[in-house]
Formats: sequence, structure tokens, C-alpha cells
Amino acid sequence: MLIRRLLLAILLLSIAASPAYADSDEQRAPLYGAPSGDRSTSPFIAPMGPVLSSIDTPSGVPKRSELPLGTVEINSWPLIHITQGSHHVFYQDNVPADRLQRGLNAIATASTAVPAAFGLPPLEGLDFYILPYDTDLQHAMMRLGDVPPSMLVPGTEGVAVLGGRNSGIYFDASKFDEDGATMWLVSHELTHGLEYELSGHRDFPVWFNEGVAEFIGSQMASRASANFVAQRRFTTGARLASASRVGAVPPLATFQTDEAWVAANRGDANNLVYESAWQMMEWLTAQPGAAGPGRTLALVAQGRPFADAFAESFGFPLSDVTPRFNAYLSGDVSTRYAGSITAQRTSLAVNERVPLVFTGLRPGENADVQMKSSRCELTGHITADEIGFAAIWIGEAPERCAGEFTATLTGNQGTTGSTQLTLLASNVAPASAEQNAADMVAHTYRLADLSLAA
Ligand SMILES: [Zn+2]
Repeated sequence: MLIRRLLLAILLLSIAASPAYADSDEQRAPLYGAPSGDRSTSPFIAPMGPVLSSIDTPSGVPKRSELPLGTVEINSWPLIHITQGSHHVFYQDNVPADRLQRGLNAIATASTAVPAAFGLPPLEGLDFYILPYDTDLQHAMMRLGDVPPSMLVPGTEGVAVLGGRNSGIYFDASKFDEDGATMWLVSHELTHGLEYELSGHRDFPVWFNEGVAEFIGSQMASRASANFVAQRRFTTGARLASASRVGAVPPLATFQTDEAWVAANRGDANNLVYESAWQMMEWLTAQPGAAGPGRTLALVAQGRPFADAFAESFGFPLSDVTPRFNAYLSGDVSTRYAGSITAQRTSLAVNERVPLVFTGLRPGENADVQMKSSRCELTGHITADEIGFAAIWIGEAPERCAGEFTATLTGNQGTTGSTQLTLLASNVAPASAEQNAADMVAHTYRLADLSLAA
């Protein structure tokens, strides 16, 4: 029997990286695997072996690992075949060398680190397909992975094709543009392969599957670029707080099948589905006494209904997950963004930049933003999206603009807000009142000059 499941990764919210800095927010809970006491009885502790190549391959199809190194053709598609450790990598010749290398590095690291998060040995002997752009990925998913067009979602960055002629993990290398994002994406897809094994190939809801992949992806990305994940967590929290205010939090726990997941993502103009899945799992694993997703999957592998496995792992009924998560978003998460304007940090060096998010707006509301100190002023304009959210980057100001800033928001539908920010510099001498007045004239900038729309 041919087994195939398609598990799509879409990491649509893309935030450029800033210089690294120490961030206490990154002291996250440790990763969760099955309790060690389970290992003697859990079916997944039996020979792990290669995850993806263990799945049925139709007879008559040569194993990809038996193809020669160098230029090969698979289904008339010319690719270059190399190895990365025990893995086989097939890439299109126009994948830029630096992105290919970043992807290979992430594959090497994640092959050990992702299974280690579940207390498992390194993954070996997997096949990877690396395509240069999203359009090539979509074509490869159809022509090589035999993915039906109905399962394609524009913007997909990676996919784990489990089973079929060319089972393996497929990537759009144009998303390998930053170490943190690359590690996140690669780890996400490897986690899918592991979940498939951990669950004993039994079915469980797609929202849980994707939540675990996002959670592990974020944990691995933190090791590569803590700053990247901290910024994404900050912005994602603001977006979910906004969605909570307008009743737009995706009904995550209702997404049971891969088809439901694809449909939800096609209709997800605000890209909230993956963000919710990530934050749902981060919240779940932080519950007091939670055993974690590895435990849930081990129980599923033993034949327990998912609802039972969930309740035993997390300490409350599955039917409570949606109301409890929604209460968390409207409570703790929203409190972090009270006041309509929130900066990721309120104190930063003049040459740094951080996200500044707007959460109290009406959907589509236009607003003026002003940042003013005694020496410099920045003004600009934002438009809230359908959930009343907007974000800009702030910082990278001239050295002489160091000082205390007040940021204010004035919306055209009545929303107002303010916050304080301090730009730090060590080599700016105290200025006279006359100099301050002159600077105010010389250093009044449009917001667009100093920041980028997110
Ligand atoms: Zn996924």
C-alpha cells in the first residue's frame, strides 16, 4: 500500500534580522520528549532508521541513493546530486551557492538536534530536494512529489512528502536567506518526519502536527539566531492580540485533516494560522505539569485516542483547548501590548532597530505616528490591516538623535496611544538649548527615512 501524507510548511511572516543582542526572552523552557521511563515500552524507541525512506516505495523505482553523484535526471528534471553526511541532496543548478550552503548547514545541524529534542538518535539517509524559487518548488511538488494541485498553497516554503516515487523533504531555497529562518524551516520539516514515526504512522490532528513542527522549528532557530526568534515572537504575539480583539483567531483545533489545513491557509489573508499553531504549542508545553508533545505522540502510537493522549499529556480535556487558548490570548498576551504602541524593547542603541507594533487600531484605520525628542522628530503614517494591526521598524537613527523619545499614535477613527523610547549613545555630549533647537530643524525626518514597513 502506498502511504502518503502531505505536510506543508508556510512561514509567511518574514521579518528581516537585526544585529544580535542579549535577550532574556530567549530563556525558554527546555524541549520536551517522552519521559525517559517510557522508552523501554514505546514503539518508537525500536529501530528508528531513516524516517522517510522507510516508507513504501513502489516496486521498480530505483532508490534515490542509488543514483550517481553529479548531474542526474529524475522524471526528466535535471538536478545535481550530492551527499550531506548520510543524506542525499538533489538541487537545481541555479540555486545560489550561499543559500545552498546555508541549507546544507541547517540540514546537518537539525538532523541531530531535532531528534535529540525527543531523546532520539540522529536522522540518517533522508532525501532532500532544493529548488531555487517558490514556483520551482510548486512544480517539483507536482512533478517529482506527485502532490495533487488541490494540495498546493502559494507561498509554501517547504514540504515533507512522505511516500511515493520521490519521498523526501522539498525546499524553496529563496527562503534560505537568514540563519534563523533557515533553521526554522528545515527543523519544521524534519519534525514532521519524526512525528510520523513517533505516532507509529497513526493519524492525529493536523493542528497538533503543525504546532509541534513550528514549536520545534522555533526552538532550533533560537539556537541559530535568538534575535530572529525573539522578534518573530514579539510580532506574532501582537498579531494574535489584535486577532483576539476582533474575534479573528483561527479555530485551530477544528483543523483535523491536511485538506482542512490547506483550505485554512488558502483563506488566511492575515497569515495567522501558522502563528496560532506555534503559539498554541508554546503555550501548551508551558502548562504546569505538561509532559509535552513527545508523550502525546507516544500514546497515540500505543493506540490511544488522540483526545485521551492529549488529556494525559497536558492535564486538561481536549475540548477545553480552544477556550483556554483564547483566554490566554485575550488575557496574558494582550496585556503585553496594552497602550496601542509597543516596542520590542524600550531602550536601544541609536544604531539598532527593533519592531514597533500597533495593536489597538480599528481594521483599516489610518493613523499618524510621531516620535519626538528634544533634538529629533520622526513622523510617518500607517494603515492597520484587517485585524487592526500594523508594524514598523524603529531605530538606526543618527548618533545625535540619542535621547528620550515619546511615540504617539493618532488614528482617524479615534484610536490613540503613546509610549516612551530611549535611544542610547555614549559619545554624544549634552547639547545647549540653542543647539537642540537647531538640531530639531536639521534633523526632522520622515519616518520612512529611518524605518521600513514590516
Ligand atoms: Zn508543516
